[in-house]
Amino acid sequence: MTNHITHWIDGKLWTGKAARTGEVYNPATGKLSGTVDFASTADMDEAVAVAKRAGAEWAATSLSKRVTTMFAFREILNARKEELAAIITAEHGKVLSDALGEVMRGQEVVEFACGIPHLLKGGYSESVSTGVDVYSIRQPLGVVGIISPFNFPAMVPMWFFPIAIAAGNSVIVKPSEKDPSAQNFIAQMWKDAGLPDGVFNVVHGDKEAVDRILTHPDIKAVSFVGSTPIAKYIYETGTAHGKRIQALGGAKNHMVVLPDADLDLAADSAVNAGFGSAGERCMAISALVAVGPIADDLISKIEDRMGKIVTGDGTRGTDMGPLVTGVHRDKVKGYIDTGVAEGAKVVVDGRDVVPDSDGEGYFIGPTLFDNVTKDMTIYKEEIFGPVLSVVRADTYEEALKLINDHPYGNGTAIFTNDGGAARRFQNEVEVGMIGINVPIPVPMAYFSFGGWKASLFGDTHAHGTEGVHFFTRGKVVTSRWLDPSHGGLNLGFPTNG
Ligand code: NAD
Repeated sequence: MTNHITHWIDGKLWTGKAARTGEVYNPATGKLSGTVDFASTADMDEAVAVAKRAGAEWAATSLSKRVTTMFAFREILNARKEELAAIITAEHGKVLSDALGEVMRGQEVVEFACGIPHLLKGGYSESVSTGVDVYSIRQPLGVVGIISPFNFPAMVPMWFFPIAIAAGNSVIVKPSEKDPSAQNFIAQMWKDAGLPDGVFNVVHGDKEAVDRILTHPDIKAVSFVGSTPIAKYIYETGTAHGKRIQALGGAKNHMVVLPDADLDLAADSAVNAGFGSAGERCMAISALVAVGPIADDLISKIEDRMGKIVTGDGTRGTDMGPLVTGVHRDKVKGYIDTGVAEGAKVVVDGRDVVPDSDGEGYFIGPTLFDNVTKDMTIYKEEIFGPVLSVVRADTYEEALKLINDHPYGNGTAIFTNDGGAARRFQNEVEVGMIGINVPIPVPMAYFSFGGWKASLFGDTHAHGTEGVHFFTRGKVVTSRWLDPSHGGLNLGFPTNG
């Protein structure tokens, strides 16, 4: 018995017949769990028309009423977070505790968006000229699109839609076709919270659905998260069609360990950040740069800790789950083969892991490489699996250069007890999010999330005040209420007076 996963449009499940569908699997068992409808261009047009109509009313709804809905949604999400986590684990494979963590990080953005009245407040200058006042306001854009990756099926859309909706927009979410169910569950929660039908819509699909989002004249802005080649495509196509775009791409996050660092903390952090969610996090640490003589000690501490990781079905209290699909598992395995062939030393080999699971899940155990160099494929490319590469460097400068020469610039971390070195690093490194003795520096909801270089296309990062800015347009009003002596004609350019 498999699930049929279809679109959520206008506050209900779609009743049409999809011309194309995709398959959804449980990655821990390899069993088919569902089929998901893929939207055609016409199906997407239907959803956009609904969102446009509903969005116009929602934008005219008072801030107080919008905020009441936001608070109600927050309460329902909080009450049902375990159910949502179980849905994520069943389709993504990450362990339940990690899935719950994802929901809670998304919930933080909902909580941030509950404060939207304060965030939308404009400025007011009285008497800029005689009898003239100026004030600024921010207004919603209309219909906005959110296209999300498989690795955070709940959290990544939640980086965007709470703020978009609170600000008065209507939303079309196009989830990853690999784990589509989480957004349908969220759609029901919005309905239960009292959000008017048609403000939050979920349209499933692949390139055809995405392309229609990018070209539809009534979609005003698109938030995308996914791999770098697709992010670049989204940015170029969307902006060519006059849309506001933020497209977050891939990553290769370096963790630098200086000789004075606490090596136990560094080893714990490298393992947690390297292998959590089987390395399928855009903020995962995938390159560890060991500076100076500490490399052997650090590697042996990491190896010890890796020996304790239990890989298996995420519903069984294991530490690390499977990769998302068989294709992705094979791709990661191929990277490990290439690493060996190109001369890296495999310290721990996850290819033959015996997982705690039933069936034919897509498992690879935690893998550690030493003596990785910057010309190797496993260093240059994003692997997106449980593979940690140690690169040895002699100096801080060499470590910094490695990071700054790398095309990606999402996150990075430095481990040291030297405040001066850490301060220099935060200033000199060309990366958007930096951890100091913190391995996965995902900003809190009231700051903004985003990388540099090939990790983000567009100007605006996700959530925080940048998110509010992205989902609204500014207006400045110059107003004068005439008194009887209005001053007569003057064709000169307006100046203060
Ligand atoms: P992906 O690029 O394959 O897919 C992302 C979205 O794009 C999906 O909704 C998918 O349906 C759609 N898509 C795929 N191919 C397309 C095409 N040819 N044309 C139009 N749309 C297409 O990414 P993924 O494998 O789902 O996710 C993993 C990637 O996302 C990794 O590279 C990871 O680093 C990145 N990621 C980045 C961040 C960040 O914040 N920078 C966060 C999470 C994930």
